[in-house]
Amino acid sequence: MPAINLLDKETINKIAAGEVVERPGAVVKELVENAIDANSSAITVEIKDGGLSLIRITDNGCGMEKEEIPKAFLRHSTSKISSAEDILTVGTLGFRGEALSSVAAIAQVELLSCTPRSISGSRYVIEGGVEKSLGDAGCPRGTTFLVRNLFYNAPVRKKFLKSNMTEGTYINGIIEKFAISHPGIAFSFIMNNQRKLVTSGNGNQRDVIYQVYGRDITANLLKIEWEDKENGLALRGYTGNPSIVRGNRNYMNYFVNGRYIKNNVINHAIEQAYAPYVMGRKYPFCVLELLIDAKRVDVNVHPAKMEVRFDESEIIHDFIYDAINSALKEKELIRNVNLNTAKEELKEKKERETEHKKEVVNRSFAEPFEEQYKKSINVKEKKEEAGGSIPLMRESHTYSEPSQMDFLDSPLLSPEARKRHKIIGQLFETYWIVEYEDKMFLIDQHAAHEKVIYEKKLKAYRERERFSQVITPLILTLGMQEQEAVLRHKDFLSQIGFEIEHFGGDEYVIRGVPADLSGLNEKEVFLEFIDGFLDEGNKFEPESILAKLASISCKAAVKGNRKLSLIEAQELIDSLMELENPYNCPHGRPTIISMSKYEIERKFKRII
Ligand code: ADP
Ligand code: MG
Repeated sequence: MPAINLLDKETINKIAAGEVVERPGAVVKELVENAIDANSSAITVEIKDGGLSLIRITDNGCGMEKEEIPKAFLRHSTSKISSAEDILTVGTLGFRGEALSSVAAIAQVELLSCTPRSISGSRYVIEGGVEKSLGDAGCPRGTTFLVRNLFYNAPVRKKFLKSNMTEGTYINGIIEKFAISHPGIAFSFIMNNQRKLVTSGNGNQRDVIYQVYGRDITANLLKIEWEDKENGLALRGYTGNPSIVRGNRNYMNYFVNGRYIKNNVINHAIEQAYAPYVMGRKYPFCVLELLIDAKRVDVNVHPAKMEVRFDESEIIHDFIYDAINSALKEKELIRNVNLNTAKEELKEKKERETEHKKEVVNRSFAEPFEEQYKKSINVKEKKEEAGGSIPLMRESHTYSEPSQMDFLDSPLLSPEARKRHKIIGQLFETYWIVEYEDKMFLIDQHAAHEKVIYEKKLKAYRERERFSQVITPLILTLGMQEQEAVLRHKDFLSQIGFEIEHFGGDEYVIRGVPADLSGLNEKEVFLEFIDGFLDEGNKFEPESILAKLASISCKAAVKGNRKLSLIEAQELIDSLMELENPYNCPHGRPTIISMSKYEIERKFKRII
């Protein structure tokens, strides 16, 4: 084995920097935390080239004495705690004493600082962990950090970074979170000489939410003020109406004692409270601050301090759930009394009907089919999302295999055969019964329509045809990440029919939407797309284009539980039959199932 070396200070710091500073945003986060801990009431952040060439953080906080400055850049040097027990009660955002040493190890850092007591300020320069100079300098009260050429001595790290634009957007997101969690501090963010965010620091959180998220969201907020004195818990802030839910968790902001974190217990509590009001994978908007005795939360779980651990997570979970649940309920009670009762009645009626159906099915199918019936009920439960399908036909073997075999031996699709289809009628306002020779076909109108639209869209997309429909212009306020997604995918958006233009500031105007979508909530559909892009990050694969087309088709398609006229149905079935593969919707569900006359006769025991 080679000889064992003791690493020098610079090497140790550089290694440690890998954990604390994995991207420019982490530098910004650490330095802004320091500025907040220094009791600043105004903080300016400026970056250039995604933070790589320059990060400047200026605050008006307590400043640092000249002789303290070199110390602050040592590893594990901090003024915030003095012993391990202090971590238990730490009230500041920082406490690990690692940020300055880490940042200085992988960048060229210049610091200007002045305390209220000193006459002149100090200037300190440290590059790659090596001290260059310390002297006096005239400067205003507070501290300025200039971090230049980040990762200049760590080329491998630099290679793994995303584009400057992405890093800049990420930093913008960090500043937004700081601004909404600290409305009493005036934040200003400048990117490539452009001012991106300015908050007043007047202490009004709603104002900051307005500045960051715009008019729409601000108009849809419910105030939360909830307390559990016994457990020493308080929750404050705003939560969004269920009408402004989004497709990912980017809009779920919460802070624990002023610290922005991610936490599954909190996610779960919030999402559970919204579950009765939103469908599928939708996530609410919220800005919530949890106040809790510092002793009961472990903040020292992660070097970047992005995670915490609670000692009694169930209590916290239920507390947050109750707070949001009651805010949502209260809102429902005031505005929607009638609607709600009507809804409940409908639900009850449906339940009664389902019970009744189960009974009928059970009785008529007697013994031999019991097993199958049970299976079909399972299928139904699993498929609830797909629109409450009826178990009756699903049990037939054609469910699992919407067997193309069936179609092969009865050429349902040939133009010749189509003339002889007999449409019997609509079942449960959702399925069409078609008789053809000695078979009965059931066609799911939603799945069928979805498939027809999907194929049309796919063809148009491949042939670069564009079907857009002009709408009354819609103005949207987009966050920076969202703007970036719009820019990045503008060709795709335009190709599928969205017409979108920059309107000034953070506002965008939509003038056209994909042809079949008008009449739907166009804004929602558009935002869903953007959220999808954000979830996918940088990779936008061909499958994701297909998924997007499928999602438009699903929205544009006629829903179940809707009456269609015979002519409409005929048209729909005709277009479906023209497709190369009419058997499955783009999500893979069957569009057609069948049952032969033979099977039916067996079920009635006409044939044994
Ligand atoms: P930590 O924040 O965990 O204490 P850091 O390495 O981030 O560790 O900072 C080291 C010390 O430098 C801090 O404890 C604080 O005393 C001082 N410091 C850093 N930034 C500032 C600032 N903006 N204003 C005043 N003091 C600061
Ligand atoms: Mg710190």
